[in-house]
Amino acid sequence: MSSPSQSTTNLVTANLGYPRIGRHRELKFALEEFWRGRLSEADLLATAKTLRQRNWQLQKDAGLDVIPSNDFSFYDQVLDALVLVGATPSRFGAGPVTLTRYFQMARNSNEQTAMEMTKWFDTNYHYLVPEWSDDLAFTPDTTKLLAEFAEAKSLGIATRPVLIGPVTLLLLGKAVDGTNPLDLLPRLLKAYRTVLGELAAAGAEWVQIDEAVLVTDLPEGYAAAFRSAYVELANIPLKLMLTTYFGELGDNLELACSLGTAGLHIDAVRAPKQVAEVVKQLQPTQTLSLGCVDGRNIWLADLNALQSVVTSVTAKIGAERLQLAPSCSLLHVPYDTADEDKLDPRVLSWLSFAKQKVEELVQLAQGPEVAATAFADNRRRHEDRLAADSSTNKDVREQLATLSEGAFRRKSPYQQRVTVQREELGLPLLPTTTIGSFPQTQEVRKQRAAHKKGTISDAEYNDFLKQKTEECIREQEQIGLDVLVHGEFERNDMVEYFGEHLAGFTFTSNGWVQSYGSRCVKPPIIYGDVSRVRPITVEWSSYASSLTTKPMKGMLTGPITILQWSFVRNDIPERDVAWQIGLALREEVQDLEAAGIRVIQVDEPALREGLPLRRSEWPAYLDWSVKAFRLATSSVTDGTQIHTHMCYCQFEDILPSIAALDADVISMETARSRMEMLHAFKRHGYPNEIGPGIYDIHSPRVPAKEEMVGLLQLALDVLRPEQLWVNPDCGLKTRAWPETIEALTNLCQAAVEIRAEL
Ligand code: GLN
Ligand code: ZN
Repeated sequence: MSSPSQSTTNLVTANLGYPRIGRHRELKFALEEFWRGRLSEADLLATAKTLRQRNWQLQKDAGLDVIPSNDFSFYDQVLDALVLVGATPSRFGAGPVTLTRYFQMARNSNEQTAMEMTKWFDTNYHYLVPEWSDDLAFTPDTTKLLAEFAEAKSLGIATRPVLIGPVTLLLLGKAVDGTNPLDLLPRLLKAYRTVLGELAAAGAEWVQIDEAVLVTDLPEGYAAAFRSAYVELANIPLKLMLTTYFGELGDNLELACSLGTAGLHIDAVRAPKQVAEVVKQLQPTQTLSLGCVDGRNIWLADLNALQSVVTSVTAKIGAERLQLAPSCSLLHVPYDTADEDKLDPRVLSWLSFAKQKVEELVQLAQGPEVAATAFADNRRRHEDRLAADSSTNKDVREQLATLSEGAFRRKSPYQQRVTVQREELGLPLLPTTTIGSFPQTQEVRKQRAAHKKGTISDAEYNDFLKQKTEECIREQEQIGLDVLVHGEFERNDMVEYFGEHLAGFTFTSNGWVQSYGSRCVKPPIIYGDVSRVRPITVEWSSYASSLTTKPMKGMLTGPITILQWSFVRNDIPERDVAWQIGLALREEVQDLEAAGIRVIQVDEPALREGLPLRRSEWPAYLDWSVKAFRLATSSVTDGTQIHTHMCYCQFEDILPSIAALDADVISMETARSRMEMLHAFKRHGYPNEIGPGIYDIHSPRVPAKEEMVGLLQLALDVLRPEQLWVNPDCGLKTRAWPETIEALTNLCQAAVEIRAEL
């Protein structure tokens, strides 16, 4: 903790986790080389060791007091937790987990399907889902945990190891043999006791124990599980920092405060209002870790505003009982703003990545007198951001403020539109189409890279894209598809492409964030009011349309997906940002329609992802997000057909909102689940058209015509023929051409065969 030489008024600063992929994604590249068999295990381990040491050293040099360990992972912290407590899925074998088995669990191979992956709370990080079964051994393996603790210690750093808490771990998993996960708790706790005991013996003073499920609606029985769990863990000679993040404790606040842990960490960024209540309910001996620097977003902290929060908390509980921390692990932000050399320097001065966030904590702990220069600089930059011209676009604000109800509504109800569309589009029953992208071959990616580097000119690149688009259209005509697409060859990424064409967006060159395993994303940054500067897709869609007599489908990414996959400004409500994007896309939709594009698809695969962690907040979110989509799409005439696409989505509990989008056609992934989802649509009486995917595009396998006929028959058990579209599960950008042509040919033949039977 703070050394005597430091100012005695200094508060303790703590971190909950540092990004682990490497400042220049060293771990990603090492892992991928290792998987290809081109890097030895020893070299991979050495890279990992270097990365850990750099992280620790950097935090120490910044003056941070409490530095985490065990926040490193070769793939995923949940998988690490399973190894630690001896609960890795039994289908991968028993006994100590080697690196080979570790990666077998994480990655698909020809022999075995990996563990399932799902979203980590409401982040874009994905974890491996524990598989609970009664036959798990729960034999702890503390090798990694203790080795990393010792490794830091040898550098002179006494770390606070990070563990996922037992109740959260249980809730993150799924039972695979009908076991009630709660029945595993006693065995799991025994493993945790061993782990904590070994940490205590190794000299750990504090342990960070993450129980983020405390900010969610706990299922029946889990509050009691918390109580019994923490009684069990109470008498180990260690201080536990019970760590919650991503939201408000709400109805679990009393529970969290009563578990008898030495400390409690709360998210004061997502849920600033809970601070006062937590301070009230905290036990007199408990330390409060105030998560006050945003671990989920990339904006500069407002040190002066935070300072007053810190002052008022200190007044109530005393400085000795307070720690300052980021709201959550810094895993969700990039490394260092110093690595950005192409960003507008002014925008750059508003940003704070992991390294800067650690510095902000230290400055905040020093206070406005000791850190006077830092506070003044922070104030200047923060105020500059709020006052910048780009932050407020008068026209956009005016448009948003004066939106009428009509702006969110199609001119006529679906029943009326459908007649006009049938007549004007002249499509057969069971029309065939694709979801948008066609193979992004090596050649396409190479040309894009060359264009980006400047080795080929704009004109050359454009000619190349035109040629690819034309080839794609000829293929689709040959295959016999009814509604064509242009293929999306000009797009690098479905969100980045639109961001690049909208005011209010900017892009980093090194702002990588881990998505899962070695996979990283580089989210766009929405820093100002969003508006469309000029048409985005109209030229490509028009060009494509001019090459064929078949209907050409325009292809846009929806407002919610653009919002969810970006770092979003935090000075106005998310709803307003979503609606601004909605308005920009509305202009695009209007221009597409005016250019004669009469089928327009607006992809919203992230709609469900944005759902708040608490059920009680769902209605508000669903209301504004549905409206953002409707804002984008509702201006068109009855004869223009609006499609949406959702990838894989658990629709059951949000179907009223899906219906409220009022898209004429929705397409989604259903091939692997054999049309299961359609039953929910039927139960709900979903009225509009549906394209349930009948071709799983996630593998190179070509489904036979008969297989797709079978799926369509299943669909027709549930849907009326007039409701049914025929399409793949998702875009084809990751596929190769030969398999794509074969599969789509089978798909069209399946449609022909079924039509003949109707
Ligand atoms: N139109 C996009 C494509 O086909 C949709 C991608 C997605 O749904 N993720 O690639
Ligand atoms: Zn999709």
